[in-house]
Amino acid sequence: MAQAQLTIDLDALRANWRALDAKTRCETAAVVKADGYGLGAHRVAPALAEAGARRFFVALAEEGVTLRRILGPGPEISVFSGHMAGDAAAISEAQLVPMINDIDQMLRHVEALPGHPFGIQLDSGMNRLGMEPAEWAALRDVALSQNPRLVMSHLACADEPGHPMNAQQRDTFREMTDGIDAPRSLSATGGVLMDESFHFDVTRPGIGLYGGRPFTEARHVATLEIPVIQSREVLPGETVGYGNTWTAERPTRVATISGGYADGILRAQGPAGYLMAGETRCKILGRVSMDLIGVDVSHLETVPDALSLLNAHQGVDTVADAAGTIGYEVLTSLGSRYARRYTGQ
Ligand SMILES: *Cc1c(COP(=O)(O)O)cnc(C)c1O
Repeated sequence: MAQAQLTIDLDALRANWRALDAKTRCETAAVVKADGYGLGAHRVAPALAEAGARRFFVALAEEGVTLRRILGPGPEISVFSGHMAGDAAAISEAQLVPMINDIDQMLRHVEALPGHPFGIQLDSGMNRLGMEPAEWAALRDVALSQNPRLVMSHLACADEPGHPMNAQQRDTFREMTDGIDAPRSLSATGGVLMDESFHFDVTRPGIGLYGGRPFTEARHVATLEIPVIQSREVLPGETVGYGNTWTAERPTRVATISGGYADGILRAQGPAGYLMAGETRCKILGRVSMDLIGVDVSHLETVPDALSLLNAHQGVDTVADAAGTIGYEVLTSLGSRYARRYTGQ
C-alpha cells in the first residue's frame, strides 16, 4: 500500500439512517454539510437517498448547488445559513430552500425571489442562528401566510439528554410555533435519541449517520489505514520525533507511518493517541509530524504493512477523546491525500 486509504462503508451509513429513522414516527432528513461530514457528499448523499431520505440539509448555498448536481431534481435541499447576500442565483437555479434567519434575510429573499420556497429558523436559546422570539412575533403572520416549507430550531445541549436546556428549548420552540400548519423540526442526532416530545415533524441527524456519538449504537462507517514506511529498533535513552518529547525506556520497535497533521490527523492527540493493528492498540510515540507519525509496534509479532487510525475497534470518538475534541472535528478534518474507497454500494 503506497497511499493511506480511507474506506467509507455505505451499507453502514444507510443502516445508521434507517436505525435513526426507526426511533421516531416522523420524517427523518439527512445533514450532509461540509461534504457529508468529510466523507464525500457525492457518495454519501445518494446512499442516504437510497435509504429513504427525501430532505437534505447543508450549511451554505454553494454546498446546496453541488448537492443538487449530485442528487438531481426531487429531494428537498435546505440551507441553514438562509439567504445571504449574493445567494439568489444559486438558490433559484438549484431550487434550494433557505432557512430564513432574520428580517433582513426575509426581505432579501422576497425581493430577489418572490414566490420561491423558504423555511424559517428560530432561536430557542442557543443564540447562534435564527429569529429571536420578538422578531418572530413581528414577522410570524407574514411569514406563515407564504406557507414556509419548515420551521426549525436547534438544541445546544442534546449530547447531554438530561441537561435542563433541552426541555427549556423545546418549550420555547413550542411557544413560538404551537398552532402553525408548517412542519416543525427541532432535533439533530441527540434529539432523535430523546423522547418523542423532541421529534416534531422532521428530524435532522448528521453525526449519527457517520458513526459518531451520541448515537452509540451506530455502525462503524469510516476506516483509515495508513502504510508503514519504515521501522527501526530504538534503544533505551533514544528519542523519537520533533522536540524529543518521547524517550525510550526499553528497546522499542518504532514504525513510521505515512500520515500526519496535514492529513487531518490531529496533532493534539500525540501523547494520548493510538494506531490500531486490527484489535491491538499501538501507541503514538512523540509528536505527530506534518506527514509522519512514529508508532510503537514492539508488542506485534511482525511489523504490519499498515496501521489503522480508524477501524471497527477505534472509532472517531476514541480518536477525538485523545485529541480533546469531538468526532465531528475528526471527520471533517480528514485530509485530501487519502485514496478514498466506498464499499457497500
Ligand atoms: C449540523 C446540524 C445538524 C446535525 O447535527 P448532528 O449533531 O450532527 O446530528 C442539525 N441541525 C443543524 C442546525 C445543524 O447545524
